[in-house]
Amino acid sequence: MKIGYKKILSIATLIFVAIFIISFEKGLLNKVEYLQVSFLDVGQGDSVFIEAPNGVQMIVDGGPDDSVLRELSKVMPFWDRSIDIVVATHPDKDHIGGLPEIFQRFKVGTSLDTGVTSDTGIYNEYKKRRASSSANLVQAHSGQVISLDEKSGVYVEVLFPGESLNEIKDKNDTSIILRVVYGESEVLLTGDASVKIERFLLSKYGKNLESDILKLGHHGSKTSTSKEFLEKVNPESVVISAGVDNSYGHPSKETLYIVNNFGSKIYSTIDSGIVSFYLYPDIIEGIKPYITTSLEYHENWLP
Ligand SMILES: [Zn+2]
Repeated sequence: MKIGYKKILSIATLIFVAIFIISFEKGLLNKVEYLQVSFLDVGQGDSVFIEAPNGVQMIVDGGPDDSVLRELSKVMPFWDRSIDIVVATHPDKDHIGGLPEIFQRFKVGTSLDTGVTSDTGIYNEYKKRRASSSANLVQAHSGQVISLDEKSGVYVEVLFPGESLNEIKDKNDTSIILRVVYGESEVLLTGDASVKIERFLLSKYGKNLESDILKLGHHGSKTSTSKEFLEKVNPESVVISAGVDNSYGHPSKETLYIVNNFGSKIYSTIDSGIVSFYLYPDIIEGIKPYITTSLEYHENWLP
C-alpha cells in the first residue's frame, strides 16, 4: 500500500500534538523555576520540606511521629523514594519522632545533626535507623554552606551551632539554625532556639539575618522571638508550626502581640494545615504571592 505524503504529515502532526499535550500535562514544558518551602502539618512539632528548582529535596526535622509520611505524600510524588538531605535540628521528640520512619522508607543522601544526644527511646531509634541507613552522617557547624541547586543559586547557610555545645543545658538552644537563600529571597529556620540564642545571632550576624520568611522559634512560644530579633530579621511573613489545642499553649499571646505589632503576616499550621511558599528568583519583587492548598492570613489575629 502506498502511503501518501499528506497522510504521513498528518500522522506526524498527531504524534507531535499528543507529545505536546502529555508534556504540558506533566509540567515538562512549563517547569517553573521556584523554590518550594512547605511547613508540614505534623501537629505539635516541626517538619519543613524544601525542594530546589532542580528537584533536590531537604527535610528539616520530622515532626513527632509518622504523620510526616502522610504529609510528605502531599508534596512528593509516590514514586519518589529518596530525600537528599535530612536535618535533625535537636533531639527532642517533636522534631525527630518521624525521622526513624523516614530513614526506613526513603533513601537518604546526607543526614545532618549536631551530635547532641538524648536519653530517650525515640532518640535511640533515630540513632539506630540513621546509622544503619546509607546516608552520609555529617555534623553541623556554623559556616557550612549546603548548595541545593548550583545552577539556580539555591543554598543553605548553617548559622548555628558554633564550636562547643557542652555548656548549653537546654536542648532547645542546641538547635541547628538555617537560612535558605534563593536570589533575593530568604527563609530563616531557628528550630526551638530561645531569645538567648537569638541575642547571640544578632551579635554575630546582625543585618545578615534579614529574611522574607521566619519560622517562629519554638512553635511560637514566648521563650523565642524577641522584638529586637524580629526587627533585624524583618520578615514579611512568619510561620507558626504547632498542633491544634496543644497543651503548651503555643503560640503564646506575648509572641503574637510582638509579631502583630511588627506587622508581619502570620501563617499557622494550626489553622491552615500545610503552609507552602513558592519562592521565585525575581529580584525586584522578591517573593511572589503564595500558592497553597489551604492558607489563612491572620491580619487581625490579636491576642
Ligand atoms: Zn519543638
